[in-house]
Amino acid sequence: RAKAEGPGSCTIFDAAMHAQVRERIDLEVALRKALGENQLSVAYQPIVDLMPGVPAGAEALVRWTHPERGPISPAVFIPIAEDAGLIGAIGDWVRQESLRQVGEWRTDGTVGDTFYVSVNVSGRQLLDPNLPLVLAAEMQTYGVPARCVAVEMTESVLVDSTGVAGRVLFELRELGCQVLIDDFGTGFSALGYLRRFPVTGIKIDRSFVTGLGSSTEDDEIVRAIVSLCRALGLSVIAEGVETRVQRDALADVGVTRGQGWLWGPAVPPAEFARHWHIKNAAALAGHDRPD
Ligand code: C2E
Ligand code: MG
Ligand code: MG
Ligand code: MG
Repeated sequence: RAKAEGPGSCTIFDAAMHAQVRERIDLEVALRKALGENQLSVAYQPIVDLMPGVPAGAEALVRWTHPERGPISPAVFIPIAEDAGLIGAIGDWVRQESLRQVGEWRTDGTVGDTFYVSVNVSGRQLLDPNLPLVLAAEMQTYGVPARCVAVEMTESVLVDSTGVAGRVLFELRELGCQVLIDDFGTGFSALGYLRRFPVTGIKIDRSFVTGLGSSTEDDEIVRAIVSLCRALGLSVIAEGVETRVQRDALADVGVTRGQGWLWGPAVPPAEFARHWHIKNAAALAGHDRPD
């Protein structure tokens, strides 16, 4: 198509394409080395119960610090990892590392008995029939009960999901893990998957949370999502909560759990523990089990 626009545009198009492809290949090559060279880490973002304002759990978010370029966003490198067949290895590492970390926090009293870790899984990972078995072994090894583990996946993963992914999800659910839909509302809104798969909860995408308290439309959309989830017995978390206005609007429509910069960004484990230890200790009474 570029060729039809004349000789000049063709060259420019090719040059831009070339740079883009080059960049991707560079990142892919670098990413292949990243795991072996300890450039990856896991950051933890609190998932907070609105009322007491204490973390019910944390989402594990992968971080990559490139030796020359510094931090690279997972929004950039996760899609590359998926295309390059690296997501399995990266996902395995993130899952194992975050279970190990939460096991340690449970032992040293940084977190209470109900605190859960939420791990992102991509579509590829759900095609691995060994995932439930491997996860069960890791939970055993690190002393983390299944009710303290959630897996998050986007709607699109379930919409194009094959038989294998479905079985894997049922097995994860059978183990007792939470199964959460990430970025809810941004995929195809073919809600049938909520019935077909053993989903236990949803995370409302930030795009619907942004306008809460100031946009009647967003208020109504979130209200509708909450009532749908109530009817289906699903838990609800609001993502990307940045302001008190948003938090108060969430409380008004009956959302009880949130995640966002209002409570804190994803931080390295030492910082997470330092910041949240005392508040967790206060919550150790553990009145609010995730199940
Ligand atoms: P996500 O799973 O929806 O994670 C939430 C993203 O929103 C995170 O971006 C988080 O840092 C950011 N966020 C949290 N609170 C706020 C807020 O109040 N305001 C704003 N503007 N942003 C907020 P992050 O860490 O850059 O991750 C981006 C995406 O990369 C994740 O979106 C997830 O889809 C993917 N990802 C991250 N770690 C992993 C992983 O270990 N495995 C897989 N498969 N995907 C991952
Ligand atoms: Mg997520
Ligand atoms: Mg999300
Ligand atoms: Mg999101």
